[in-house]
Amino acid sequence: MELFRSPSGTRDWLPPDSERMAYLISAFAAQVELANYRLVLSPMFEDSGVFVRGVGDESEVVTKEMYDFTDKGGRSLALRPEGTASVVRAFLQHNPPVPFKAWYVGPSFRYERPQAGRYRQHHQVGIEALGPKDPYLDFEVISMLMNWFFSLGLRDLVLKLNSLGDDNCRPPYVRELSSYLEKNQNLLCVEHQQRWQVNPLRVLDCKKEECIAVKENAPKIKNSLCPECSMHFETLLSCLDEHKIDYVLDDYLVRGLDYYTRTTFEVACASLESSQNAIGGGGRYDNLAKALGGNDTPGIGFASGLERVLLACETQGILLPAVPSPKVFLADITGGGKAAHMIHVLRTLGIACDRAFDNRSLKSQLRQADKSGAILAIVVGEKEKEANCVQLKWLFPGDKDRFIQLLTVAADSSRDAGTNGRIFSPESDEPEKRDIIERYRLSDVLPEDLAYSAIKEFFRNA
Ligand SMILES: [Zn+2]
Ligand SMILES: [Zn+2]
Repeated sequence: MELFRSPSGTRDWLPPDSERMAYLISAFAAQVELANYRLVLSPMFEDSGVFVRGVGDESEVVTKEMYDFTDKGGRSLALRPEGTASVVRAFLQHNPPVPFKAWYVGPSFRYERPQAGRYRQHHQVGIEALGPKDPYLDFEVISMLMNWFFSLGLRDLVLKLNSLGDDNCRPPYVRELSSYLEKNQNLLCVEHQQRWQVNPLRVLDCKKEECIAVKENAPKIKNSLCPECSMHFETLLSCLDEHKIDYVLDDYLVRGLDYYTRTTFEVACASLESSQNAIGGGGRYDNLAKALGGNDTPGIGFASGLERVLLACETQGILLPAVPSPKVFLADITGGGKAAHMIHVLRTLGIACDRAFDNRSLKSQLRQADKSGAILAIVVGEKEKEANCVQLKWLFPGDKDRFIQLLTVAADSSRDAGTNGRIFSPESDEPEKRDIIERYRLSDVLPEDLAYSAIKEFFRNA
């Protein structure tokens, strides 16, 4: 029988890549929780209507890429193409107090021909802030994204900014743009020659050479902003200036989604290939709540694709930490029951440890210990088991000396401080302690009980 493989356009994440991904997420959570954003988990699929809103909605995601299907109950559902609409839907359904500041992490889906670096399932983190229309919230959201990137050590980032205006000033601009596009219709790319009327702003986002050329002389929205939109944008820009967050203004930054108003932004990483160098972006969506049938509620957020961010880190030689290896490895050649007991005790003490299974030879178990990345191997043979002792094998030279030092210091301080020694039990008297240390120096063997407390002490000080 042929083996099953992951579905087309998906990939599996295994260590250490999966752990770097987990690191990105925990660094993100740490960052946004500083600003009181709190985790929201929403379903991976929604009523398709959450993403296709009304007639004339022609964003690329919706028309071409949505991973939608009809379920057994005849409902039209879609795997979420992005996080924002889901979070806003959840906000409207549960009506939490505003400002509502949420962060999320999870897969997003698109149905398209699989190609290098583009997956049908990919992973995003993001934040959404609903309620305030304050430009300082825009600053908070943008600085949150930048701070996360900086905390990872990413360099060569370009923050691009634009304002798309609002219901007041955008319609006249779109009319102006439309008449410009009409005049230059024949110069547009094949697709947009047919479809530019559906959403003229989308032409500004087109990556085809023809449309890029037409765009060059297209009217700019910044010349059409109403005083309120101008003021909002200016306040944001001067706050970014004041805090030395560099940006470039991009008059044609419209982003792929149809619901943005006012501030839009995108972060490009110069180390990545230019067609796929956006590692995060978002904007204000003051009309989205209303478009989903709720009360008029302003909002702003961003999303960032973790696969891209990881790629950017790799390209820049930033090696994100993986999960720490076990510190102790148990090699038990008496059947394995002793190892079961000891790892149980060590884990209760908070020490990361692992063991060998299937009663393999000592040589094979020690080879596993070496590979595991552990610092210390504990060997239990028949002799040790009989005497309630364990043999310690330090896998890096020097660790044993430090361990002995620790035993000695502990013995000394326990003498000086009466019965306050942290490693030896108060009952054991000093000559006995000295004796144990000397014997350990020669033979690597320690009583099991003493080994636990000494190992705990060692890793606490490591
Ligand atoms: Zn085009
Ligand atoms: Zn305006």
